[in-house]
Amino acid sequence: MRDDLWKSGIGMTSQRTRERLMERLFEEGIRNLQVLEAIRRTPRHLFLDEALAHRAYEDTALPIGHNQTLSQPYIVARMTELLLAGGPLDKVLEVGTGSGYQTAILAQVVERVFTVERILPLQERAKSVLREIGIRNVVFRHADGNWGWPQYGPYDAIMVTAAPAEVPAELLNQLADGGRLVIPVGEREQYLTLVVREGDNFIHQRIEPVRFVPLLAGAIHS
Ligand code: SAH
Repeated sequence: MRDDLWKSGIGMTSQRTRERLMERLFEEGIRNLQVLEAIRRTPRHLFLDEALAHRAYEDTALPIGHNQTLSQPYIVARMTELLLAGGPLDKVLEVGTGSGYQTAILAQVVERVFTVERILPLQERAKSVLREIGIRNVVFRHADGNWGWPQYGPYDAIMVTAAPAEVPAELLNQLADGGRLVIPVGEREQYLTLVVREGDNFIHQRIEPVRFVPLLAGAIHS
């Protein structure tokens, strides 16, 4: 990532504010140092509209337009930590690029990220922010992520940042043996769920209650 950018920002978007966020996540139980370091380095305010930038380092979800939200930093950190708990990761599929903030965190702790978004303008904006901050190990796809991205699978890990009623079968198919999938599941009541593949078995574990926007069907242009 470009040094000048992640050091930039004054007042509520400064490096010091980012360090406080990192300390807060540590207090909330995030222990993975790679994840904490990625949070500390990443200018979250660049992923938001200017009018919201001053709130970027609060531990809260924030709107990014098109009825979508940038996830709360604690959740971003927790999901990333759960993926990494099985060891270093090469290929990771992300469904729901949104602002690209979670993508940026992932890209700093794994080798390659393949990210899919159904709303084209969100994808374009995320692409340009990631380019601006110098993150290059990400490829983007405008599509319905319920179908994964078969071309590059199987993946060592898959992260989904919108909630389906049930885990999409195609995502399980594209998970490598030993691979880990982190996904919010449920409608009115949602649970962050970790699925670990062992051959043809999929071990599901409920982690904690969460609130995500729904995983929808089909890709749209506006
Ligand atoms: N990780 C994002 C969270 C964005 S909210 C961030 O940190 O900003 C969830 C995102 O999932 C939205 O951008 C939404 O458009 C996208 N999404 C919902 N259903 C999808 C689908 N079927 N395929 C791909 N993306 C989807």
